[in-house]
Amino acid sequence: MDKRYDAVIVGTGAAGLYAALNFPESVSVLLISKRELPLSNSSLAQGGVACVLDTVHDNYKLHINDTLVAGKYKNTLSAVEKLVKEGPADVLRTKDLGVDYDLNPDGTMCKTLEAGHSRHRIVHHKDSTGKAIVDALIEQVRKLPNVDILENALLYSMHKTLGGFYLSVLKDGKSLYYGCNYCLLATGGIGRVYQYTTNSAIATGDGIAFAYMLGAKIRNLSRVQFHPTAFAAEANRERFLISEAVRGEGAVLLNCNGERFAHNYDKRGELAPRDVVSNAIAREALRTNSEKFYLDITHKPADFIKSRFPMIYAKCLEEGIDITKEWIPVYPCQHYLMGGIDVNLHSETSIDGLYAAGECAHTGVHGANRLASNSLLEALVYSRTAAEDITRKLQKYGRKPLGLEPAHRPITGKKMPSGFRSQIRAILQDTYFVLPKPEKYDESYKKVEEIIKQLFSESYEISSDLVEAKSIAIVASIILDEVREGQS
Ligand SMILES: Cc1cc2nc3c(=O)[nH]c(=O)nc-3n(C[C@H](O)[C@H](O)[C@H](O)COP(=O)(O)OP(=O)(O)OC[C@H]3O[C@@H](n4cnc5c(N)ncnc54)[C@H](O)[C@@H]3O)c2cc1C
Repeated sequence: MDKRYDAVIVGTGAAGLYAALNFPESVSVLLISKRELPLSNSSLAQGGVACVLDTVHDNYKLHINDTLVAGKYKNTLSAVEKLVKEGPADVLRTKDLGVDYDLNPDGTMCKTLEAGHSRHRIVHHKDSTGKAIVDALIEQVRKLPNVDILENALLYSMHKTLGGFYLSVLKDGKSLYYGCNYCLLATGGIGRVYQYTTNSAIATGDGIAFAYMLGAKIRNLSRVQFHPTAFAAEANRERFLISEAVRGEGAVLLNCNGERFAHNYDKRGELAPRDVVSNAIAREALRTNSEKFYLDITHKPADFIKSRFPMIYAKCLEEGIDITKEWIPVYPCQHYLMGGIDVNLHSETSIDGLYAAGECAHTGVHGANRLASNSLLEALVYSRTAAEDITRKLQKYGRKPLGLEPAHRPITGKKMPSGFRSQIRAILQDTYFVLPKPEKYDESYKKVEEIIKQLFSESYEISSDLVEAKSIAIVASIILDEVREGQS
């Protein structure tokens, strides 16, 4: 074993970083990230974090209600209450930790409106809130004496023992081996299971796959959110998000004929929850026989657009669109996962000592559909909860012996043939997108199972390609199995 820790956190998005900041110095922690620290879905978040800070114009009941309405009342109420009531303190803590939220002239935090929210309650840093949070938290985590950080280090295998876990990590072509009593999976979402996604390259569902292989309960993985307005680039797999906040500030959706149509499908129009707007676009595409859609914010003053959405303005300009004068081409794509590794209110999974937080976890807060800007809040609240619960357990039970180390499997082997990942992505994109195709569920599931057999039957060389191919195959298979069994 290379080193033994009290706790290992896998992931350096908002969930992993904030968890690290919530351990006392007495707890030894290893924090690992399979790529550079800032590369994560968290860094891509634009709109902001939803929380009730203004108790004159807003209150917890309203935020809870908006979350339940968006989630179609399939949310776990106790998890939503915890999120909404504990969230404001965590957001204020991140401000104290240096996150540069936009402020009003009187020093209070600016709050904007997003789809599905009945009040202005989204705090933000321009249109790059996630990056502001991640940058500030990384700076703070680097100062922690009890936290070792391992960058570009891929967790590729987990072994459970009586007292904890042994983790195998691939770094610089070598295998490293760590032991810990507690492990927190904060490995993010599954966007890369789809052909087109707003998610970062790291979003391959690794943590979910590892938890599943350990026998953890996985729930509602087929609850996938498709964002209605991603920049409709011709080529890129990772599609740039045109945040809800753009519609919140008055942008309207147009079809291929330049006509508004969202109100024909739902009276809330462009500001209906994401699934409703995505659905409206998909149905309008069938009606008009065209996948060309646009967002128009040109009626707003150019100076306002540039200062409120500097990143979106710059990114669209790179693609040849000046959003102060031209319509933005948009189309729905995979964006977020509501389901995941099932956890309780302490962020504990069904496996002793294994915790999960952030997008890889299923707390039940989002129900059938996530309300905009609730996910960063969830990442903060439930990762802090995990750190607190692990600390309590360490105080109560001490450092338990880990038990026998398993035999090491060499990382060398045959090179994995290419093509598995693109096959899986094509299957999911075709079978289970905004308007799912139930007639294809069985056939697609069988195809994915066949790929899994091939991936697991050979002793391929351990590489990120292999680990991620296995992860997305397992995730795709769970999703398709869930929908064909009608479980979600
Ligand atoms: C474009 C975009 C915009 C968004 N906007 C908003 C918004 O405005 N408001 C909001 O609330 N939410 C938003 N979201 C959602 C939100 O950003 C994410 O749900 C949240 O940040 C997830 O945080 P996380 O810490 O769980 O995961 P991530 O931030 O994705 O971090 C995952 C981490 O796990 C690591 N990892 C994964 N697998 C392994 C492995 N095998 N070994 C080692 N490390 C591993 C990765 O390297 C990474 O560090 C947005 C998402 C996207 C994609």
